[in-house]
Amino acid sequence: LKIKSIEAVRLGWPKPEPTVEARYAGKTRAYPRAYPIHKYPEFNRTLGNFPGGVAQEIGVVVTAEDGTWGFGSCHWGSLVLGLIEHHFTPLLVGRDCFAIEFLNDLMWRSTQRFGAAGLSTVARSAIDLALWDLKGKLLGVPVYSLLGGPSRKSMTCYAASDDVEWAMELGFNAVKISNPAHYEDGIGGINAVEDKVGRARELLGDNRELMLNPVMSYNVEFAIRLFERLKPYGLRWIEEPLIADDFDGLSLIKQAIPTQPLATGESHRGRHAFNELIKRRCVDIVQPDLRWCGGLTEAVKIYNLAEAAGLEVVPHTGAATASGLHFACSLPEAGLVEYFIQTDPGIPLNEAALCVPGLPVPVNGTISPNDAPGWGLEVRREDLPAWH
Ligand SMILES: [Mg+2]
Repeated sequence: LKIKSIEAVRLGWPKPEPTVEARYAGKTRAYPRAYPIHKYPEFNRTLGNFPGGVAQEIGVVVTAEDGTWGFGSCHWGSLVLGLIEHHFTPLLVGRDCFAIEFLNDLMWRSTQRFGAAGLSTVARSAIDLALWDLKGKLLGVPVYSLLGGPSRKSMTCYAASDDVEWAMELGFNAVKISNPAHYEDGIGGINAVEDKVGRARELLGDNRELMLNPVMSYNVEFAIRLFERLKPYGLRWIEEPLIADDFDGLSLIKQAIPTQPLATGESHRGRHAFNELIKRRCVDIVQPDLRWCGGLTEAVKIYNLAEAAGLEVVPHTGAATASGLHFACSLPEAGLVEYFIQTDPGIPLNEAALCVPGLPVPVNGTISPNDAPGWGLEVRREDLPAWH
């Protein structure tokens, strides 16, 4: 069966009506969070990392000759649009939609001259995810079944939230908090992070896991000073302390504080970047994002590298995407998934503003994918209007 069309689409999810009022405004969005750009004080730390608003999610619909269609998505919509429309679409239309490995290899080889990682890999992710959805729908099976799963009935979720009490009330036993400090903040930053980590640990007690997410805002010296300070709080992992390309820096941190597990991967694109991380043993928890790392096909290659090295794979935003759920449910060393809490305290998780129709939400900190064909979503074609 041939690919008839590939279209870039906007995501038009119906907004759920709130059934209750929040007890108080949530803390997640109010906390200042540092990103690499916050080296410069002109950028406000409560406003995020992308001053131009280019992070917007973009959908891709791949339609087969018989009219069956599959859905995938990635981010940086306006930036990846040209790659999807002008490069990958003419390359793939008319080819066998079942031959996903071949189609990925074509996409990857065709981008070598202008950069096979970066945004090329992000754009490829959305197309690959749409192809998997399409294949599942055509064969009438969920994607986890195509992958050889399920390996487990349900996955454990950890919460990404600065509202530790709300996360615990929802039944999560592991919470990842954001990071307020940039290395430019010096000792004041180190004190601020220790203060925040200490308060979270006090709320969680000793039987729940705590993680910290610096999102590339540290340098090697700041990280080593800080992690020495954080030893008593027993962090399960510290995530993306350095920019993605600083493999030597990660190795230095590992050598200085070998007892502190490091997680990274959401800003790494493609299996070669992960191969470098894993080969150098400068990561403990491997975190590909299926919408950014090259899609499900690439994520399985990354998983295999990690699994052979004895490392756990925890897909970035795994519980907030159907692809992450199918991936984690299929692969034996990928049973923990991230859930970013988006509702204020008291508001049920399925009333979050950005809920994809048919995507399950965690119950008592656990979640399972739907078993309908493809990703098992209830997305209607009319929810996906053309991007232009
Ligand atoms: Mg992260």
